Amino acid sequence: MNSKYIILLGPPGAGKGTQAKILNGRFQMAHVASGDLFRENIAKQTALGTLAKSFMDKGELVPDDVTVQMVMERIAQPDCAQGVVFDGFPRTEAQAHALDRALAGARKKIGAVLWVNVHDHVLVARLSARWICPTDGAVYNLETNPPQVAGKCDKDGSALTQRDDDKPGAVRRRLEVFQAQTKPLLEYYRRANLVHEIQGEQAIERVQADIVRIVEAL
Ligand code: AMP
Repeated sequence: MNSKYIILLGPPGAGKGTQAKILNGRFQMAHVASGDLFRENIAKQTALGTLAKSFMDKGELVPDDVTVQMVMERIAQPDCAQGVVFDGFPRTEAQAHALDRALAGARKKIGAVLWVNVHDHVLVARLSARWICPTDGAVYNLETNPPQVAGKCDKDGSALTQRDDDKPGAVRRRLEVFQAQTKPLLEYYRRANLVHEIQGEQAIERVQADIVRIVEAL
């Protein structure tokens, strides 16, 4: 059986997390989101969490060495053996090289890189309207996908919160960091003939259908 290792590459707010969760429910693919792993460490008040938070709050990337080590430990878990959807990783060329090496060592490789393309003004609007449930991680958008009761999670009633890095100053910096450090990965993966472009401004279901078609063909 082909194992499916795919990367969702796109700016913050492109919908990578939403699409990754759908793929995770539909295929035997673990969802590996470096941002979620950092947020779990922050919630548990680990040393890694404290370090990561100092970068995340400013919208900067966490250094490659700690990020790579954390993700490598995650993909060594048994649920990653049949496939993984990477969400928010890799974000630098050094991370991409580290991932290639780790997969090659396990006789695996990336099957596709899905470039989720969304204009900056749409990203800013989405990120500033994004509220999350701190308990189950559910994501709401006050404009397009509001909770049934204002400020409360539909599933467990927890008070919704806004990510610190979804506040305006950090959002601007995250978009700059994406352009400078992550977008060059597009060329890296284009050279390997792995890139499929997805129009990320379509409705969630349309984006999903485009992605599923590619993943099914792997
Ligand atoms: P995300 O949830 O993917 O938007 O990530 C939130 C923040 O976590 C980013 O702005 C970075 O500060 C940090 N982060 C997440 N993934 C990475 C990564 N692969 N490399 C470096 N920093 C990361």
